[in-house]
Amino acid sequence: MDIAETYRERNVLVTGAAGFIGSHLVDGLVAAGARVRCLDDLSAGRMANLDASAGRIEFHLGSVLDSELLRRALDGCDFVFHLAANASVPRSSADPLYDFNANVTGTFRVIDAVRRRSRGRVVFASSAAVYGEPLDGPMDEDHPLRPQSPYGGSKLAAEFLLAAHGRCYDLDVRRVRIFNTYGPRQRRYVMYDLLEKLRSDPTRLEVIGTGDQERDYNYVADTVQALMLVGAHPDAHGGVYNVAGGRPVSIRSLVPLLLQEVQIPPPVVTYTQSSWRGDVARMIGAIERLASLGYAPRHDLRDGLRRLVAWHRAEFSPPW
Ligand code: NAD
Repeated sequence: MDIAETYRERNVLVTGAAGFIGSHLVDGLVAAGARVRCLDDLSAGRMANLDASAGRIEFHLGSVLDSELLRRALDGCDFVFHLAANASVPRSSADPLYDFNANVTGTFRVIDAVRRRSRGRVVFASSAAVYGEPLDGPMDEDHPLRPQSPYGGSKLAAEFLLAAHGRCYDLDVRRVRIFNTYGPRQRRYVMYDLLEKLRSDPTRLEVIGTGDQERDYNYVADTVQALMLVGAHPDAHGGVYNVAGGRPVSIRSLVPLLLQEVQIPPPVVTYTQSSWRGDVARMIGAIERLASLGYAPRHDLRDGLRRLVAWHRAEFSPPW
């Protein structure tokens, strides 16, 4: 299907638009010819992330908790991509009330605003954290839901709220469970942390955890492809979809791949063994349901890491 055609000249609201994934989604929607409204309180996002689309978007500064702002931003919109959230697992364990307000109350405000105007398709950025520790192998969408961080719990509560409102008020709600996404503009999590450590000292590299944690990394352009596909596809109404790369890697094997792109003499690599509260050892997603809509990741890990390191070099001028 022609995804771009769905969005051409349509009004689309992106919440969390100045964040990592949100800003790439905005670029994708602008490229597809959409009229994009952005809403972000800049608590974690940055205006500079929207530079590539500057002059072609409408920006609303404020919180999804502000119903009046939401009402104005939503006016005339056909699609809402709801990404605004506390997106940090460690922050959710340190401050669960903040996480609850941003992720649960914030999502309620969005769906309530959509219900009041009875118009607009909602695509919600949920997370693989709703599953918790996997029972066995890759997790499909029917895997038990046993989140083990306040963040995973708030994303699951938000999913249920959206689905219930969808059924009760006949609203078009779609959910995607994003596994680890990486790429330019991401300023947190493993890859960014490793690059930052190498920037300050290229001779040694301390890695958090045992190195045995497995992740199913997806390059951000592929996550954007998935979000736009789920938002566009007629069969995705009411659906829930995993978004992952489909090629799991352990942190221990990720490290040499990253070092290869950085191109420095091998540093001394050590592992701290212990990790943060709420961390999950294996996060691997089955993506057959999304693939059945026509999704296939276009960037492998090597290609994605090359683009990430190029951005890091341009942004931070490391000594390598
Ligand atoms: P991010 O922190 O870069 O983006 C979140 C954006 O939301 C930020 O720009 C922040 O300023 C904004 N925001 C936060 N609270 C807000 C509020 N109350 N009102 C308005 N704006 C608010 O995170 P990201 O990595 O781009 O994640 C985007 C979405 O995808 C989040 O919902 C996150 O939970 C989800 N997700 C991300 C990943 C990943 O690997 N990056 C994985 C699973 C799920």
